[in-house]
Amino acid sequence: MTDTILVTGSSRGIGRATALRLAHDGYDIVLHCRRSREAAEGVASEIRALGRQARILCFDVTDRRAAHEALEADTDNHGAYYGIVCNAGITADGAFPALTDDAWDSVIHTNLDGFYNVVKPLVMPMIRRRAPGRIVVMSSVSGLMGNRGQVNYSAAKAGLIGAVKALAVELAKRRITVNCVAPGMIDTDMTDERVRAEALKVIPMQRTGTSEEVAGAVSFLCSSDAAYITRQVIAVNGGMC
Ligand code: NDP
Repeated sequence: MTDTILVTGSSRGIGRATALRLAHDGYDIVLHCRRSREAAEGVASEIRALGRQARILCFDVTDRRAAHEALEADTDNHGAYYGIVCNAGITADGAFPALTDDAWDSVIHTNLDGFYNVVKPLVMPMIRRRAPGRIVVMSSVSGLMGNRGQVNYSAAKAGLIGAVKALAVELAKRRITVNCVAPGMIDTDMTDERVRAEALKVIPMQRTGTSEEVAGAVSFLCSSDAAYITRQVIAVNGGMC
């Protein structure tokens, strides 16, 4: 039976590229989005054209109950996943003195609580598979070095690194690896022209990255070549840090 990987936030951007890359690698894919079902349907069609299975789950990762119900129903029907790519995320930037409560709460809830709400209900089924597994979590260069105007986002993304390092220790003897990918400035809906132009000044490679370049790192971490790599952060950032 083909192994299945869930990619959260795979209607567009890095998640979309990752889902397509993992389908190319030979996995069946569970796509996920919050409300862009139509876009996710397009990704599912591309995956099916590759001869792999794709299905779509739509729920808000900040809604613990909705996440739990959707994931439990899917794994009850189709079996436990081989891998989870925890990618859904948002930014809500602002200088700290002006940061709104909503900007703080929404960024922490989506990026950090979203990890808990998705991974928690899936871990026991993964353990019960008694087979190798993969958890890859999308952090950020902001979580590694902090970024002006992103106290909320940097806190959430650094928090994910701590969570990944602890969970990796807990799951190591089960042959389930847990790692972070930390992208730098990647061309997606999340990054506008002004932000990209500003970032170029601090990117040694003098260019922004592509979603496909991030997907390549996730693909490697999900592969059997990475079976002995756990508790790590792979930066994909053109040399920013
Ligand atoms: P995009 O904005 O292009 O896509 C975000 C994806 O996440 C969409 O599929 C969206 O679904 C989903 N999503 C957002 N909020 C929620 C939610 N509350 N519940 C469920 N799904 C949600 O983002 P990117 O592809 O740029 O970013 C992907 C990940 O990479 C994020 O974690 C981001 O923080 C991280 N990252 C991105 C960088 C960049 O430069 N782009 C740099 C470093 C890290 P829907 O379409 O339905 O809204």
